[in-house]
Parts: sequence; C-alpha cells; structure tokens
Amino acid sequence: MIIIDHLTKRYGAQTALDQLNLKVDKGEIYCLLGANGAGKTTTINLLLGFIEPTSGSAFINQLNVRENPKNTKRYLAYIPENLMLYPSLTAVENLDYFSGIAGKTFSISDLKGFLEEAGLQSQAFNKRISTFSKGMRQKVGIAIALAKDAKVLLLDEPTSGLDPKASNEFGLLLQKLRAKGVATLMATHDLFRAKEVATHIGIMKDGQLKQQFKADDISLPELETAYLKTMDYKELKV
Ligand code: ATP
Repeated sequence: MIIIDHLTKRYGAQTALDQLNLKVDKGEIYCLLGANGAGKTTTINLLLGFIEPTSGSAFINQLNVRENPKNTKRYLAYIPENLMLYPSLTAVENLDYFSGIAGKTFSISDLKGFLEEAGLQSQAFNKRISTFSKGMRQKVGIAIALAKDAKVLLLDEPTSGLDPKASNEFGLLLQKLRAKGVATLMATHDLFRAKEVATHIGIMKDGQLKQQFKADDISLPELETAYLKTMDYKELKV
C-alpha cells in the first residue's frame, strides 16, 4: 500500500531525506524511529504530497503521489501530533464535516457508530471539541479514518503527550485498524509503543534508514540498544 523508492528531499545544502526505500503492506504497522531532524516528518509530508521530492518516488496503492495528488489522498488518513479539529463543533459535527470533505455522507447514527468504534465515550459525542483531551481528539481522528474507509494511515507522533492509558488505548485502536487491512506508517519517539504495536520498525538518522527489523524478531531492550547505537550514544561514565 505504501512504497517509497529512493526518495530524497534536499533543502539547499541540507539533505532532509536521503534515498529512502521502504514498503508497508496491507495490515502492517511500520514504526519509524529516529532523533529530532532524522527525516520522519519529511517522509510523511512527501507521502501526503505536502512537499515535492527532489528525486525518487512515493506510491500509495500503486499510484505515484506526485502524479496523482488528489487520488492518493482518497486512500489516506493523517493524524499529526496535534490534530486540527474545529473546537466549537462537537465530535459528531467534526466527523460529519471531515467525512463530507472526503465525499462521504452519513446518518447521525452512522457517525456515532464510527465514534464508538474509535473508542470515544458516548457522553462525549455531542460535546464541543474544545472540551476534549488530546486522547479524545485522537479518537475522533481514528473515527475520521474509519468513516473515510482509509486504506493507509499516516501518523506523526500521535502518542506524544498521551498518558500511558490513553497511549495504550491508541495502540489497541491501531491494531483494530490493522486487522481491517489498513497499512500504517507511524513516526514516533516512543520505543515502547513501537515495540507494542508495530509489525516492522525502522531507525532513521540524518535522512537515512539505518536499520530495519520485524518487530517479532527483536525485544524491547534489543531495540533500545540498536537505537542508541545508531544514534552514537555514549554511555555516561560515573
Ligand atoms: P522530529 O522528531 O523533530 O519531528 P523529524 O525526524 O521529523 O524530526 P524532519 O522534520 O523530517 O525530522 O526534518 C529533517 C531535516 O530536514 C531536519 O534537519 C530539518 O531541519 C530539515 N528541514 C525540514 N523542513 C525544512 C524546511 N522547510 N527547510 C529547511 N530544512 C528543513
């Protein structure tokens, strides 16, 4: 569902992304790890068509993002660190609005069904988003993905700032979507959550993918060691 082929993005002399190759199939969750400035957000922005690559290509459902900017967006749902929703509208109204943009019309009961599937408590359905916690807003984001019937989910640090319970709930939702065949690419700093939810994990540094694992093949301590080694972390001597 996602193919990234020698994707490169330069800003003047700065190489934000350097010949990245990566694949995410149906029903896979690929977590991209890496320090600040590693190129994770650049990768996601290229898949969204927000920015143009310097060279290389990105494909969503076999369509080249650069050549099919509108069509590729039909398959995508995107949840950034801070999801932009309309604060004065309720959860149901936001969902109605964003599914409308995606060309879908639903009854109120269908909309509530998506919110319920995304794990939002029913008491919150008709409350304004301005009263929502981050975890609740992320659930509305998942409901939008469900309403849109997105085949590909792009997530940029979706669990940062979530408490462990909310983060765990979010991980369970991702696994639910995975069971439906959704392909997910998630940029995160959260090694623990990556190990919990991912099927595949990549470690980026300086715009390059340095290491790649199947999540089942590596323990959390091994992942942490691999990450720190990739970052050239030196142990503190006391
Ligand atoms: P973080 O974990 O902080 O979100 P990241 O891995 O997502 O980091 P990117 O935001 O993709 O990193 O940035 C990769 C590199 O590209 C960084 O060195 C950044 O400064 C540079 N960069 C990103 N956008 C621009 C831009 N518009 N102009 C110039 N340089 C940019």
